[in-house]
Amino acid sequence: MKIFIFVIALYLFGFSLGFTQTQLGKPKLVVGIVIDQMRYDNLYRYWHNYSEKGFKKLVNQGFSFENTFYNYVPTYTGPGHATIYSGTTPKMHGIVANDWYDIHQKKQVYCSEDPEVQTIGSNTNAGKMSPKNLLTPNICDHLKFSTNFRSKVIGVALKDRSAIMPAGHSADAAFWFDRKEGVFISSSYYLKELPNWLVQFNNKKIPDSLMKLTWNLSLPIEKYHQSSKDENTFEGKLPEETSTSFPHKLNPHKKGKYETIVYTPYGNELTTFLAIAAIEGEKLGKNPHGVTDMLCISYSSTDYVGHVFGPNSLETEDTYIRMDKTLGDLLDYLEKNIGKDNFLLFLTADHGVAPIPDFVQQYRFSAGHFDYQTYEKNLRTFLKEKYNEDFLITYLNQNVYLDEPKIHAKGLSVAEVEKEIVLWSLNFPNVHSAINKHNLIFNEYREFPFANVQKGFYPQRSGNVILVYKPNYFDDEYGKTGTTHGACYTYDSQVPLLFYGAGIPKGKSFEEVHITDIAPTVASLIKINKPASSIGKCLKFED
Ligand SMILES: [Zn+2]
Repeated sequence: MKIFIFVIALYLFGFSLGFTQTQLGKPKLVVGIVIDQMRYDNLYRYWHNYSEKGFKKLVNQGFSFENTFYNYVPTYTGPGHATIYSGTTPKMHGIVANDWYDIHQKKQVYCSEDPEVQTIGSNTNAGKMSPKNLLTPNICDHLKFSTNFRSKVIGVALKDRSAIMPAGHSADAAFWFDRKEGVFISSSYYLKELPNWLVQFNNKKIPDSLMKLTWNLSLPIEKYHQSSKDENTFEGKLPEETSTSFPHKLNPHKKGKYETIVYTPYGNELTTFLAIAAIEGEKLGKNPHGVTDMLCISYSSTDYVGHVFGPNSLETEDTYIRMDKTLGDLLDYLEKNIGKDNFLLFLTADHGVAPIPDFVQQYRFSAGHFDYQTYEKNLRTFLKEKYNEDFLITYLNQNVYLDEPKIHAKGLSVAEVEKEIVLWSLNFPNVHSAINKHNLIFNEYREFPFANVQKGFYPQRSGNVILVYKPNYFDDEYGKTGTTHGACYTYDSQVPLLFYGAGIPKGKSFEEVHITDIAPTVASLIKINKPASSIGKCLKFED
């Protein structure tokens, strides 16, 4: 009997090590983590309040690239996630913003919308989403292709775009949160019905329990050193609240009963619960063919909290302290159930964030809101006076979209009209520079900021003139409280980049690297081709 068990054990040991692709040093599971709106310095600003098992563990026992930048603009969530996993910029993958104006459809489109597909898992339209607007294969597609589609790929997030863009075109599924019904859903692009494990997860009704909570600081207030006064006039408010201070109640939101969860750190905890349920349910990292699986996790609540309360709030500090805890829980789970040598993890962010203008004005920063409504109104007047006609379709994400057929019909040159708008715009308050479509098509720009604009430009989806505002200025579309991102400046473009797990040595690099370097690096660590249109380099794990 003993010999029999020994032979079986030897066989299993040999099978797991000797006859599978893991023999080639490939990890069994790749875990990609994107923390929405996490600026690089958030790794260190809150260091003293982090535990030993979350961010600190990744920095101290993994490898950190301390100078990682977005090399294109605009720095929004859709483009960020598309770039991290494809290793290329909007110029190739086409995700130029979260929303853009489509000149063929003559309407504004959302990056992951897909009217052809159906919601799977709820009765709302929140699942009518797919990666069809992503125009290049990404690392998950290449992993699938390379293993004859035997690898499993799953994307999870609260935001649909943050689950869909990472998982790519050929993923088994992406799952995101339906804020009206309080369940995780998918679309008919991937599945006919939700997998059993997710039905069971939804049946636990965790969001209902979260809505009963009150958000309080997780540590005694004396421990918070990176935040301004709790009650102030420059922070926004959570739904139905009358003050900007703790404690915060989770009141039902008018957009959807469960929407408020995403504006609290509980949204990130819910995401970790889902990620672990997905690993268990899909048996990720335990592929029967011995090939590498991939799980893409995106944490979105850091972004929602950041928009409302800004980077110098107690709310943001507490959200990162709690993010660290839930990240630690995920790492504990992975180490216990997959094994540290069997998974490869990377962590980064889809963009950073600007300070709240009114807050930093107190410290004599040059900062403010860009009056985009007056800009649009005055531009229309200028065009009418000059050409007797208003060619402006819309002004969106610092892009001026013109009605080109209308310009042609008048016998005018589009390039000439664009140039006039560039010159006129330079006189508008708080515009730093402006560049037009024709120049971006026919010239190559190597210098900041136009090099960044060019890498973020896709002719069929971008505007005719693109503005660059002065640092610390942004559209006041959310009103005068809170903050946003999207600029080429380092507060929006510099993000953390950490690697940890299988084959990753301890260390730190201060070399300047780019967000487009992640996908080619992961590709070489798992021994597959770089994604099709990747422009990044393979990073060296050397101090
Ligand atoms: Zn955001």
